[in-house]
Amino acid sequence: MTQTLPPDFLAALKDLLGPQGWSEDPDVLSEHAQAWRGFIKGDTPIVAKPASTEEAAALVKLCSQHSVAICPQGGNTGLVDAGVPHGEICVSMRRMNKVRSVDVFNNSMVVEAGAPLVTAQAAAEEVNRLFPLSLGSEGTATIGGLISTNAGGVNVLRYGMMRDLLLGMEVVLPSGEIWDGLSGLRKNNTGYDLKHLFAGAEGTLGLVTAATLKLFPKVQRATAWVTVETTQEVIALLAHVREMAGDTVTSFEMIPANAVEMVVADIEGTRDPLPSNLGWRVLMEVSFSDEAMARKTLETALEAAFEKGLIQDAAIAESLAQAKAMWMVRETIPLSKRAYGNSLNQDISVPVSKIPAFMETCNARIVDKLPTADFVIFGHVGDGNLHYSVIEPPEKTGLREHFDALTRIIYDTVMEFDGSISAEHGVGRLKRDELANLRPQAATDTMRAIKTALDPKGIMNPNRVVSV
Ligand SMILES: Cc1cc2nc3c(=O)[nH]c(=O)nc-3n(C[C@H](O)[C@H](O)[C@H](O)COP(=O)(O)OP(=O)(O)OC[C@H]3O[C@@H](n4cnc5c(N)ncnc54)[C@H](O)[C@@H]3O)c2cc1C
Repeated sequence: MTQTLPPDFLAALKDLLGPQGWSEDPDVLSEHAQAWRGFIKGDTPIVAKPASTEEAAALVKLCSQHSVAICPQGGNTGLVDAGVPHGEICVSMRRMNKVRSVDVFNNSMVVEAGAPLVTAQAAAEEVNRLFPLSLGSEGTATIGGLISTNAGGVNVLRYGMMRDLLLGMEVVLPSGEIWDGLSGLRKNNTGYDLKHLFAGAEGTLGLVTAATLKLFPKVQRATAWVTVETTQEVIALLAHVREMAGDTVTSFEMIPANAVEMVVADIEGTRDPLPSNLGWRVLMEVSFSDEAMARKTLETALEAAFEKGLIQDAAIAESLAQAKAMWMVRETIPLSKRAYGNSLNQDISVPVSKIPAFMETCNARIVDKLPTADFVIFGHVGDGNLHYSVIEPPEKTGLREHFDALTRIIYDTVMEFDGSISAEHGVGRLKRDELANLRPQAATDTMRAIKTALDPKGIMNPNRVVSV
């Protein structure tokens, strides 16, 4: 339910942020109060848009004084109902979108929370460096949102998650106090590493206003599209290429044949890079400082994989355009899946070695419950991360009828295989209660204690991650 805001609070907010800094326009409110592609709808009385850390701090202080709840929002591309306001005021960070500084010799840059990921990537590129985080929503997802969800993406295998790419952070605490932790240090053992509290906190502990990000040497990539018969071979191929090419393997994405068919049918401008009757494709990348070395390493690894019988066929991209076309097939799977019909989508992880057995067991249990079920299971398999979707044509109703029971099967099977029911998308409101049951009680109690200590009034993104 939308909060009724005290008139003196509203007047003070408008005065503080100025005419550009807030909106009550119903169209603007509705845009901010629904998730990507409208799959979640909330509501908000006002969108506040601070333009500086000082404005953000004054705003949070005002909210604290009046006990007004805040939902921080970046690009609003999150997938777990964490950044959509449900009655809270929406604090959109998009006006804080500058790259404040780049330190080439220190391999670091300071970027404001509302900057889209592509802005950070471009700033790194400009100084001949790499900011390696990359994901399908990178044109819209913001640095603050990516930190707050501890986002993953396609380069985690080599560079880690967003948490691993942080050197420092600036945060407005729920009291309105500013914590300036914008350190560029790689070594700084001076007590609790506070930035890690805010990474993955989904806005429940404070408002991230800027971060110091790590830069890496720029790399040249060689990209291959490979056809494989079974998931066991996909996993064996991953081990093989990592043995041969080590950390130069930066991406390793598993794609089922039916997803390629859906994409090619639904998404204009896509084509199957290597038509085949086999069940699986792998899209992989090897990165090196030198383009010829990257290609040579990839070719050598694939030739050896072919000799071992791990792969049937492979196409190595001859140009950036070809590599982009391969990635387009991978990145548009979520869109084509939606066009296909009904789907139940889960972002889960299991140990890489257990992926084939997990899929076999879980799929069989699902089919037992819903014989008409089909599957699109793809994702960052190098990290054990599967986007596990059960799908059904639109005219069928079984998926909708059995939605909760099927979700239960997936969660229980994930836990049986020592996995996690949220790999990279987070908790939000969607998985909060389920995770309260699944994680050890001591973990939930500690999270509650941290939340209560930092945010005693419970104003920062309430009811996300953990209930108190
Ligand atoms: C097509 C598509 C592909 C995607 N691919 C991936 C993928 O490969 N890997 C992956 O990990 N995710 C992926 N996502 C999910 C999503 O893009 C990420 O979760 C992203 O990190 C969200 O960033 P955002 O700026 O849109 O945050 P929002 O959606 O606006 O917010 C997400 C959370 O962060 C909080 N928040 C936002 N900004 C701040 C701030 N400044 N301070 C405090 N809290 C804040 C919000 O309150 C909310 O809890 C994908 C999403 C889409 C739509």
